[in-house]
Amino acid sequence: MTAPLVEGATGPWEVVIGLEVHAQVVSNAKLFSGAATAFGAEPNSQVSFVDAAMPGMLPVINRHCVEQAVKTGLALEARINLVSVFDRKNYFYPDLPAGYQISQYKNPIVGTGTIRLDMKDGSTRTIGITRLHLEQDAGKSLHDVAPGASHVDLNRAGVALMEIVSEPDLRSAEEAGAYLKKLRAILRYIGTCDGNMEEGSLRCDANVSVRRPGGALGTRCEIKNVNSIRFLQRAIEYETQRQIELIEGGGTVVQETRLYDANKGETRAMRSKEEAHDYRYFPDPDLMPLRLDPAWVARLKAGVPELPDAKKDRFMAAYGLSAYDAGVLVGDQVAADYFETVAKGRDAKLAANWVMVELFGALNRLGKEIDASPVSAVQLCGLLDLMADGTISGRLAKDVFAAMVETGKDAAIVVEEKGLRQVTDTGAIEAAIDAIMAREAAKVAEYRAGKDKLFGFFVGQVMRAMGGKANPAQLNDLLKHKLAG
Ligand code: ADP
Ligand code: MG
Repeated sequence: MTAPLVEGATGPWEVVIGLEVHAQVVSNAKLFSGAATAFGAEPNSQVSFVDAAMPGMLPVINRHCVEQAVKTGLALEARINLVSVFDRKNYFYPDLPAGYQISQYKNPIVGTGTIRLDMKDGSTRTIGITRLHLEQDAGKSLHDVAPGASHVDLNRAGVALMEIVSEPDLRSAEEAGAYLKKLRAILRYIGTCDGNMEEGSLRCDANVSVRRPGGALGTRCEIKNVNSIRFLQRAIEYETQRQIELIEGGGTVVQETRLYDANKGETRAMRSKEEAHDYRYFPDPDLMPLRLDPAWVARLKAGVPELPDAKKDRFMAAYGLSAYDAGVLVGDQVAADYFETVAKGRDAKLAANWVMVELFGALNRLGKEIDASPVSAVQLCGLLDLMADGTISGRLAKDVFAAMVETGKDAAIVVEEKGLRQVTDTGAIEAAIDAIMAREAAKVAEYRAGKDKLFGFFVGQVMRAMGGKANPAQLNDLLKHKLAG
């Protein structure tokens, strides 16, 4: 797919986007201290002397966090740097008690990698990853606890983050959204970040510029801390228009940091390049360079699970799914597992259809995620099996499913309770046909005079008279026979 251009008043523009994503590492302890990391804890209840930057405290690297970063790098097919360095990034802020953040600058733990995007039209795009580095999170300033005062909560101070930086390879808001979605899926598959954007475990800065197609890169603006995929896309769209109108009106884009206001749907300037911090990076003298054992990295590599791209390819090959269906199903590991449970030993396309149309539709209406589904994969298997063995018709299966969603009961129980078992008793079907033919004598005559189209009408009438429970194949056969006279 070629990148979509944006039509301005003076001709087409190409949008260039690079994303910087902060992903909180799944770890019980912080990056350089043993303090806990649970979300939503009482303020300042998870703060060690290291996190509070008490004099004389020394950071000790958390091996688990390093492992998580390396696993993520491996999942991004990125270069793992066997030697990396922790630097101090100096700035003043009330929620940063040390006056610096420990981060990685020139020598990050992970180098260049790639992410594959699955676009809506079935095409794919490969986006470059520039780097992934480990760093500490800062604390949180609370301005709404007491009037006239700001409070500081240091629970988050020192929590491990992975900053994942992309190349300026993205060309539209849609691609940026697809990138963030795929990155989040990969992080969740390997379990290194929970990807929860509402809780701030995954945060995104978007760098946006515009240029004439194929021209030199334009000046970029950085939109800070966007906390949902929808907002990311809206912020990029707004910023694109703003820059195009600015340039077409004779102005120039100045490099600056901007904030997205979700209520107003616009970005506004936060600080210019001149006001940008001079972080005075230098290697943290309290920490030795981080050296990784190649054999340890190799063991981690061997343990990387099947990731979304590989799973998608396998779903297409093994189950005959379309690129689109497979892409949707692998987007969430729980959905992928759910589908596989249902598909195993059954009609895979039917299974995909039930999961993507009926189940996702119901979850959507309920506002629930699949891991909170009222119908388990095993229960859906039960429903499909009742259809396959003829106990219920496909038509009634949807009613049974609706009842399962509502009550959480097994399909077989719903069928018994509601008396939805399919009627295969020839006598009962014949009796219903006779009744309808007697009632619709004129139409029977028309049919016999050659109006074949009426056959569907009779099927519908008999089915209705039997509450939808007649076995469709039997009904067809018997009806054809009787109408023939
Ligand atoms: P900084 O360290 O100031 O944030 P970087 O060079 O590390 O700057 O770039 C940060 C992000 O900005 C990267 O994701 C990169 O792809 C992106 N980027 C760089 N130049 C441009 C540009 N002209 N337009 C859009 N994005 C850009
Ligand atoms: Mg930046």
